[in-house]
Amino acid sequence: MEQTFVLLKPDAVQRGLLGQITSRLEQKGLQLVGMKMLQLDDAILDEHYAHLKDKPFFAGTKSFMKSAPVVACVWHGKEAVDVVRALCGATNSRKAAPGTIRGDLGISIQANLIHASDSIDTAKAEVKRFFKKDELFHYQKVMDPFLYSKDEKS
Ligand code: ADP
Repeated sequence: MEQTFVLLKPDAVQRGLLGQITSRLEQKGLQLVGMKMLQLDDAILDEHYAHLKDKPFFAGTKSFMKSAPVVACVWHGKEAVDVVRALCGATNSRKAAPGTIRGDLGISIQANLIHASDSIDTAKAEVKRFFKKDELFHYQKVMDPFLYSKDEKS
């Protein structure tokens, strides 16, 4: 099983889409193991988006990400990193495939509603960046033994 980190961005908060987006992840069978609302600041954004620091849009991205609170969550499940990235769709909402969160609900490249970890290593670092150990929960979903075969990839 994997954990992956998700941020519901300020446009998800402003547009009242937190429930719809969370619902899509739940309906896909992912297990919510941590969730909180927080206000991002420059320090955490510089770390979180370090790979974008030389991009011309970086200042705008930071300003957007600070414009309202965000909701940070951790999702658990088989191949959770790839499954959640696939559910998100392409970065540019206008190019994202219909059926994905960004393709169905996103407006632009900036207002693309959701961040999700792009690898298992990134997920580990991002979960640690945003959550303390006692903010994450471990519990068994009662349907899991029914839903997964023993041989299925973890
Ligand atoms: P993703 O969020 O799909 O993993 P990136 O890590 O490349 O994509 O970029 C992080 C975020 O920076 C994007 O989700 C988007 O909000 C913003 N961003 C990326 N590229 C652009 C761009 N060309 N113009 C404006 N904002 C951008």
